Order: sequence, then C-alpha cells, then structure tokens
Amino acid sequence: MKVERYNLFLDFEDNNFKGKEIIEVETEGNIELDSLVKINSIYTGDNSPLKYEVINDKVLIYTGNFKGKIFIEFEGKVSTNSLVGIYRSKDIITTQFEPNFANRLFPCVDNPEYKAKFSLKVSVNRGLQVISNMPTEKIEEKNGKLIYHFKETPPMSTYLLFLGIGEFEEIQKDKVIVATTKGKIYKARFALESALKILKYYENYFNMPYELPKLHLIAVPDTSVGAMENWGAITFRESSLLVGETSSLENRKDVLLTIAHEIAHQWFGNLVTLKWWDDLWLNESFATFLELKCNSKLFPALNKLGDFINEYTYASMFEDSLTTTHKIKAEIKTPVEINEAFDQISYGKGASILRMIEAYIGEDNFRNGIVNYLNKYRYSNATAKDFFASLNADILEDWISKPSYPVIFVKVEGNKIILKQKRFALLHNVEDLTYKVPITIEVNNKLITKLLENKEDIIVFDEEVKKLKLNLNRTGFYRVHYNDLNYVAYLNDIEIAGLINDYYNFYIAGIVSLQEFISLINKYKNYKGLNTSEMISSILSYLYKINPLKYKQIAEDYIRAQLIIWKNYSNEEERSLYYRLMRRLSFIDENFSLALSELFPYYDQIESELKSVAVISYATVTSNVKTLIEKYKYYSFDEDKEIFLNGISAIRDPVSLKEIFMSLDTFKYQHLISLIIWLSNNPYIRKEYYSIFLSHFKEFKDFAINITGGIWGLGMLIRRIFPMLSLINKNEILDLLKEIEDKDLKRSIDYAKEIIQILENLS
Ligand SMILES: [Zn+2]
Repeated sequence: MKVERYNLFLDFEDNNFKGKEIIEVETEGNIELDSLVKINSIYTGDNSPLKYEVINDKVLIYTGNFKGKIFIEFEGKVSTNSLVGIYRSKDIITTQFEPNFANRLFPCVDNPEYKAKFSLKVSVNRGLQVISNMPTEKIEEKNGKLIYHFKETPPMSTYLLFLGIGEFEEIQKDKVIVATTKGKIYKARFALESALKILKYYENYFNMPYELPKLHLIAVPDTSVGAMENWGAITFRESSLLVGETSSLENRKDVLLTIAHEIAHQWFGNLVTLKWWDDLWLNESFATFLELKCNSKLFPALNKLGDFINEYTYASMFEDSLTTTHKIKAEIKTPVEINEAFDQISYGKGASILRMIEAYIGEDNFRNGIVNYLNKYRYSNATAKDFFASLNADILEDWISKPSYPVIFVKVEGNKIILKQKRFALLHNVEDLTYKVPITIEVNNKLITKLLENKEDIIVFDEEVKKLKLNLNRTGFYRVHYNDLNYVAYLNDIEIAGLINDYYNFYIAGIVSLQEFISLINKYKNYKGLNTSEMISSILSYLYKINPLKYKQIAEDYIRAQLIIWKNYSNEEERSLYYRLMRRLSFIDENFSLALSELFPYYDQIESELKSVAVISYATVTSNVKTLIEKYKYYSFDEDKEIFLNGISAIRDPVSLKEIFMSLDTFKYQHLISLIIWLSNNPYIRKEYYSIFLSHFKEFKDFAINITGGIWGLGMLIRRIFPMLSLINKNEILDLLKEIEDKDLKRSIDYAKEIIQILENLS
C-alpha cells in the first residue's frame, strides 16, 4: 500500500473538531488505518459508501485492490487531561504526535515508513491564529470563521505533522520565527538569534539547505517532552526556549542544546526518516551528538564536551550496566516498546558511540558518510544497514548490535601492559560479551592506539612503564580499572571526572570498597576542575539523599573545600558551578542554608544563579510551602516556576507535605510529574511521603497514564519513584510490584527491582 496525499479539512469549535479527509492511496488489499477519532462515513469519489469496521484503534476499510481517493468524515475532541495527541495547554491547542499519536487527530497510516504529502485547511473562530508545518497560502473568511489554507508539505511521516491554534505573538528573522503565547515574546530574542546561527551551521555541515520555506520555534506552556522536531514547526517547553540576558547559564545552555538538537532533526529524522522505531537511535543519537558538534563550534566558551559526557555518556553507561538494558537497535513491536525506546540508550549511548566512531575514523570521513547518507535517502526512509553502508565503519555495527559495554582491566608488569575486557554489570548476572574497543593509551607520555578485539591483549612497550592512562578525553565507551592507581598520571579534568565515575560504579558493583572510593575522592578534594567538581559533588549529593547519616560528612567536607576553591570564579561556567555547589550544600547543611535563606525576599533583585540557592535555602529552613506555592503561581515564566518547584520538593518538615497535596491542581501537568518524582528523593520527608504516595497511588497512576498516553506512564512512575520509596519499606514495595505484574510493564518492573537492590547496597 502507498499513501500519496492526505487532504485534511478540520473545523474547530472550542474543544471539539469535525474533519473531512481525502486520502489518495494505492493498495492491493483492504486498507487498515490507525484512528482514535469517531468515524461518521467513508465513501469513494463517486459518493458510493465503503464498507468499514472499527476494531479498537484501527479502521478496516473493505476496498480490495484500489487506486484513487477515499473520503472520510469524522469528529473528535481536544484532550484536556493529556499531553499527547491533540490537547489543550492553557489558552492554546497544540499537538504531540511522536511516536504514534497522530491517530488522535485523523485516521491515517500512523507509521513512519508511510510518507505522504499533507494539504491542510483549518477553520477556527475569529481572533485565533493557526500554525502548521508550512506557511499559510491564504486566510479565507467564511460563515464568521477563518479558514487557514496551508501550503502542501513535502512527503513526510505522520508523526511530524503539527497543528497549533491560539493567540500567538511572533518575531521573525529570515526563515526563523519564534512564537509564544501572549505576553512572553520579549524573552524570545536569544532563541531567535541562536537558531539562525545553528541553522546556518547545519546547512554548511550537511552541505544541504534547509528545505522548508520557514521554521517555527513554538513555546508551548505544557508538554510531556523537552521539545519536538515537527518539520518546520518545532515545539519547546517554555524553559527550553524563552530566556533573557539575565537567565542562568544552565537555562541558556538548555536553550542552545535543545535548539541544536531539534534543528538537527530537520535533516536527521525529518528529511531522512527511520523505517521503523527499532532504528529510533538513528534519529536521536545523531541529533544528540550534533548538539555537541554544533555548540562547541559556535559557542566555544561553554563546557560543551564536559556536559555531554556527564549528561549522556555516564548517564547511559549507568542504564547500560543493568540487566534490563537493550541493544541500541532494539526489537520493537508493541506501542509500549515504541514509547519505551525514547531512553538513554537511544539518546545518550547512541550519541556517545557516534563520538567514539568519529574519533576512530576521522572527522572528515565521518562527515562525508553522513552527507552521502542524507543525499541518498532524502524524502524517504532508511535503516541502520543503509547507514552502516554509507559510513563504512564495521565497528559501529558491533556496538549497535550488542547490549552494554566493557570494563578494561589494566595491569602493568615491567614494560608490559596487560589489557583484559569484560562486560560491565552493576549486579553480576549477565552473559559476558567481547567488544571491538578502540583503545587509546598514553604511556610515559607517548600515545598508543589499538583496536582491542579479543578478551585479552598484551602491549609490549619499549621501556619500563612508569606512568599511564587509558581512554583519553573519555572518547571511548568503556570503563577502566587499574590494578594499581599509582601508575595513573597526566589526567586532565575530563579524565579525572571519568576516573571518579568509573570508581563510583565499581563501588556500586562491589569491585572497590567505600573506603577506596572515598580515598580517591579525597585525593581530589582540593583539585580545581569544573568536571571533576561537578562529578564528585553530584555523586555525593545523590548518596546523601539515599542515606544522609552515612554520607553527610564526606559530602559536606568535599563541597566546603570546593567552595573555597571556586570562590574567585573567573568565567560563567565557573560561576555556575560555584552556585551549584552552594545549592547542593544548602540542601545538606542547615547552618549553611540559614544565612542564605535571608536572600529569599530579594528574589527579584539577586542574580539568576543565586535565586535557586536562596529558594532551596528558604525551603529547607522554613518549609513554608504556602509561600513557595504562591510564588510558583505568581511568576509567569517556567524558569522561575521551576526554581520554586525545586524549593517545594526540598522542604524538611513533613507536616507541610499535606499542604502540597491540597494544592496539586496549582501545578502544570509537566511540573506535577516532576514534583511527585522529586519528593521521593528527599530523605527528610520520605517516610511521610511514602504513605501519602501509596494512598494516592491510583490517582497518580491514572494521571501518569493519561498525560503520557499509555501504560508506559505508569512504567515511568515505577522506575523513578518506587526505588527511592523502597528505602522506607522494601518488602512492601516489592509486593506492590508483584501485584502490578503486567507483561507490558515487565521491563520497568525489572528495572525498579534492580535499582532497589542497588540502593540497598548503597544505603
Ligand atoms: Zn530528538
């Protein structure tokens, strides 16, 4: 079957819509469409009705062998309790179709392989504006309503269609338009200027122009995702798009990263699209990897590489050392599996593997491979195999088709370096594998590279080994265990952070003791390195949240020592780190937060980085939920709201929890989901939260399922909240998991069980 074109007319009245659709199609057998709207009639061009049957979310149309136009009349509702499909977010109507929610707007073949052209007409009440992938051709007035006619799209997948209805404000330069809801456009300038630079960077990198006549970046008040790359009409969380001169560095970097990611998709994903969701990594690994390439080129003052390794490489390595991990190219059949594929393996691991391959085959070869691939498959679909063929790098295939990654055990004997590889797992019950590992070693200041393909290998050096290090700049996706750390030398900041991350994971896995891990940290207590400081302080904050008594001293000692070092920061990144350290310490040490909490009334006057320190301090000292919620409501931008949300989740007095639960309808859905997760991380109120969470479990479950569009929403709660709650009563949580037992949630349940075991070991 082939769909040539969808001709769609949609008439909106409040939260209801009526649709007329003409599908141009060619098929050898009956047609099966995906649909969650109410079908009123289906007929052919000469008005003869077609027999059809609605079976759950499918419509089977008895056409037999057919070529021509099929007419469908239908109606549907704009959702008010969901953040997928077509839904209302405050004053606007917006859509989120990836991966399989276009069927909530119109009957279609909701499968990325079925690319078609879209010709869209939308009727709305006067005063409302409509945005879609293409520019408007004309706006017609009819029966007191406005009909927006959009130019036809190029062939594209259904998940990339976008529709936004409401009162927008816009600014434009060249092809780029930033749109916000009323009153917010004055914070769009930074996004507009950055997007123009980023777009130009990609046109040059891909050696191919951006194909559509315009590119909208739209700030959506409430969304379940960070951003969505709809072709020509990208949607963003407000905090990932709208920042001002005075916004914190973290927020401004988030905007740059998100824009770089989503614009990369305009080629990687939109122009060339995966054939099926098992190759989701092709979209996401690239967009994530290109965040790094693009931003390090355009904004060299930012610590882009450090952030990338921290947020993607190490985060995905953690997930990838669990038994529930999967190959990058995953097996995907059910809707649950499709939605679960949007994980750290597809994003972080895939992107890190691409970084490793680029370093291995060279920047030019890598880029040429990409450009050839895009040229060959533009306006169509491709698979991993097609990509491997363009890139000509067989080690990539090895990494895509195996789960997990190795730890390299290093042993020095005179002039010999003995390397052994073993699949790394946090809890040891996995099948061992052998990987093709591009190894970089610096020995006595000389660089050696080699491809380790066997279990064991010996490098014979021409003199006695005195100093060495492996995995330079942490380009390789592997961990390194040295049998004697005294040999390890010349490490730069990124490499020390990597060493710490490796040994932290060895501690979790029981390969090194807590004592050994702490003495490694103490070695770097007075070391001045952005990435090292971020790595150690975030690990210690996390451990503190698991067991404050056990980890308080070490966490406090380390952060205090670091605060002295960074007091005289000399650039934005250092300043940002300095305040992050303060924020972490103010959660741990009430004496420290006491003085800082007095800054709270001056929230509007103090510099952005200090705002979140003041709010966390105020929250830990006063637990004044009422005021924090008032502030959350008062500020209109998410960058402020999120600071107060963080504060609310940092309170110390469990009595105040009740007040949070009486005001749940105050929060945007996207914030409510964060809040119920964050509260479980707070050790001061965990015990009381435990009872409240369990007594509200049914409501939370329904809420999560509704906003994410399926049972995977419950999977998210199970993975993110249950492990932390198990610290209160492990057996009760395990019993609850047993009760839930649902084959679609198997992966989430197994994941939670494994994290529960890990937390028990750490606590
Ligand atoms: Zn993406």
